Amino acid sequence: MPNKKRNIYFFGNGKADGSSRMRDLLGGKGAGLHEMTRIGIPVPPGFTISTALCGYYDTHHHRFPKELQKDVVLALARVEKILDRRFGDAENPLLVSVRSGARESMPGMMDTVLNLGLNDRTVQGLIRQTNNPRFAFDSYRRFVQMYADVVLGIKSKDQNDADPLESIFEHKKHVRGARFDTDLTAADLEELVAEYKAEIKTRLGKAFPEDPSTQLWGAIGAVFGSWNNDRAIAYRELYQIPHNWGTAVNVQAMVFGNLGDNCATGVAFTRDPATGDRRFYGEFLVNAQGEDVVAGTRTPRPLAELQHVIPRVAKELQRVCKLLEKHYREMQDIEFTIENGKLWMLQTRSGKRTGFAAVRIAVDMVEERIISKREALLRIEPDQLNQLLRPVFDQSAKEKAQKEGRLLGKGLPAGPGAATGRIVFLAEDAVDWKKRGERVVLCRIETSPDDIRGMDAAQGILTARGGMTSHAALVARQMGKVCVAGCEVLHVDYAARTLRVDQAELKEGEWISIDGSTGEVYRGEIPTLPSEVLRVLLTRALDPEKSRIFQQFAKLMKWADEVRTLGVRTNADQPDQAAIAKAFGSEGIGLCRTEHMFFQGERIQAVREMILADDETGRRRALAKLLPMQKEDFKGILEIMGSLPVTIRTLDPPLHEFLPKHDDEIVELAQVMGVAVEVLRDKVNVLQEFNPMLGHRGCRLGISFPEITEMQAQAIFEAACELRREGKNPFPEVMIPLVGSRPELHEQKAIVERIARETQKSYGVKVRYSIGTMIELPRACMVADEIAEEAEFFSFGTNDLTQTCLGLSRDDAGKFLPSYVLQGILPEDPFVSIDRDGVGALMRIAITKGRKIRKKLEIGICGEHGGDPRSVAFCHDIGLDYVSCSPYRVPIARLAAAQAALRSKTP
Ligand code: PEP
Ligand code: MG
Repeated sequence: MPNKKRNIYFFGNGKADGSSRMRDLLGGKGAGLHEMTRIGIPVPPGFTISTALCGYYDTHHHRFPKELQKDVVLALARVEKILDRRFGDAENPLLVSVRSGARESMPGMMDTVLNLGLNDRTVQGLIRQTNNPRFAFDSYRRFVQMYADVVLGIKSKDQNDADPLESIFEHKKHVRGARFDTDLTAADLEELVAEYKAEIKTRLGKAFPEDPSTQLWGAIGAVFGSWNNDRAIAYRELYQIPHNWGTAVNVQAMVFGNLGDNCATGVAFTRDPATGDRRFYGEFLVNAQGEDVVAGTRTPRPLAELQHVIPRVAKELQRVCKLLEKHYREMQDIEFTIENGKLWMLQTRSGKRTGFAAVRIAVDMVEERIISKREALLRIEPDQLNQLLRPVFDQSAKEKAQKEGRLLGKGLPAGPGAATGRIVFLAEDAVDWKKRGERVVLCRIETSPDDIRGMDAAQGILTARGGMTSHAALVARQMGKVCVAGCEVLHVDYAARTLRVDQAELKEGEWISIDGSTGEVYRGEIPTLPSEVLRVLLTRALDPEKSRIFQQFAKLMKWADEVRTLGVRTNADQPDQAAIAKAFGSEGIGLCRTEHMFFQGERIQAVREMILADDETGRRRALAKLLPMQKEDFKGILEIMGSLPVTIRTLDPPLHEFLPKHDDEIVELAQVMGVAVEVLRDKVNVLQEFNPMLGHRGCRLGISFPEITEMQAQAIFEAACELRREGKNPFPEVMIPLVGSRPELHEQKAIVERIARETQKSYGVKVRYSIGTMIELPRACMVADEIAEEAEFFSFGTNDLTQTCLGLSRDDAGKFLPSYVLQGILPEDPFVSIDRDGVGALMRIAITKGRKIRKKLEIGICGEHGGDPRSVAFCHDIGLDYVSCSPYRVPIARLAAAQAALRSKTP
């Protein structure tokens, strides 16, 4: 067992202090290096400085504990011994890489320094070791450039500004007439090192550190420090990675993929990360360093070609990949380097993948008997299922675009799906334009970690350079964004804000369409079609036999349904929404907000007439107009849902939501109602409330105006009775909103029961129904036992319960809530994920009290939280019967419910 206080963990020569079980301390990269070393895979020796030191460094004014110095010296000595080289030795130098590696991978967000240990003396040793002065000076040049950027902070000011040392490099190439980096000679590169150092001295007023030990400590500090750079923070916020985890630092002997033509570097996935296809998949560059592949500055070659270049190593790589997948029982994303015909593994981790690939790989691995169904279900992020439901381009519209000559080119299909939007070139613009309600496609030469927020804001990402494993591709896949990478025919000009393909020029703001499944890029907008899953389930335009995606989705959902105990319903107000939800497996409607129907067509006039009427007679006149419309709506929904429960809520929102806002609307309404405009205007003013959310709404409306509840109950029961007469078996559940006391529910229930009795009698049929309440006020939770005397079911309205429990306005919190979350005052937005300690505690009280009175009381949730996987897990844990969410989240909730059931069974 490793000592808990240990700072450093060594690996090399088949022995490792750590293992894959120590991700928290060693980070993902470190844990992978230790594990690979253990199982006999060739890994250059090195050591990992634990993540615990990251926090220490941050809180101790960028200092390290004293003993670390000694630990590093000892660990370095072990590496030196294995390789028979010495750090800082002029004859036979050891060079190292210094890399970050957090518990969760954060691709490219933190810093790395390569070739560390080079100076004017050791470079001579490197020449002797390799017999290759050009290589030695190229490594030296790269090192100084990287160190200057990462450790000394010499960088471009913004996206439009050139990197200072890169400019010197480009200038040198220009002066020498060099087209490629490789055209520069050893002497050119040696000069460049001197020029870089001079520039550094001018800018910083002090010389570049020649002492390898100083270099090493500088790099270790910078890599720890990069945990808190802006892009890493932004990334963690996006993916809810705790800020206190910290990164580990891996110091490892360098191996070189750029020593000549029997050298290469690359990345590989044991399965296709975009589609999940079972094929060994990756990219490599001959005579290059790892950063060249990931940075997207050179477009690499497909891995299948490696067998033509270095056949023996290609075979060995296949063997290692198979071994790793088998060992980890998971798709692996690996980095490797081939140095003079010898394969070295530099990283292995479970590979990021699209939602399509996640489902495919999980289902395939079950069928290949690699994992169990349980593991398959637990491996998929429920939200990833979204991608399978997203639209794709309409094939005929795409063919038409092609015929019209709008196909601009083809890149790599890096993130599947269809995206159409306006062109923007800068990440900040993507964010701003999205705020203005525009759909945008972020078009870049290549993306960098700084673009993360822009990538998130865009519909899709298009890059001119970079491969399937470039930053853009990697991050897009993880975000589930549509992405076409490496579309080399594009010439992007950031300054002019244009994108050119041959003669065609597209400006910022013009429409572009990208197909992340085929790599095609089209000028203009292309309409989209529902996804394969929707075409099978909903439009039935696709034969399930013909859609592999559907079949795998269906299998996974079946497995989920086998284990989940929590029901999944939907929030739907219209028959078409109900139909979608049912196709997705909804087991009923958990919330039908009747008022949503009030906004359609002419109805709003009748609603306003009702609200503004002087007396009951006037109100009843207006309600009579609404009755047939509501009845039609209810009938449509009840019919689609068959015998499944349909929870219909009586009128709830504050009345101001229906009032005319503009004078011309008041004039029009006055005419309809036959009253003077002035009179009506006064009435509208009188009805204004200071705090409508706590005002005349919910059951308070039905109590003030019982005829509203009457009309709604009548519409519900007439619809149900008609269906019953047609031989159907509808099951309406009438739900009273915003109840805070038993008498409120008692009053409303009496009305509904009376109407139910009368309507059934007049139709001569019996209908199955129940009457219950929403629980969305703290008081309702506290007196839930009393309320349960009346209610046959509870449904938590966690939108209002969050609002009232936290005293946080649903409508106004957006102004300050994000900063609360950013500052860590609240761990997350309580309107997105249930605040377990506050709202959750109230829910528990309500459940206990409610079920004390009615043992079998049915309890669900219909607030927005019903579609949030973490809240779904909470609902499972506290013993709800079902969650209800929007139609497109039904599959997500089904999977989340299955995961909750599986996790709660875990000892
Ligand atoms: C709720 O408050 O959670 C709820 C579902 O009702 P509404 O959002 O309509 O207020
Ligand atoms: Mg509510």
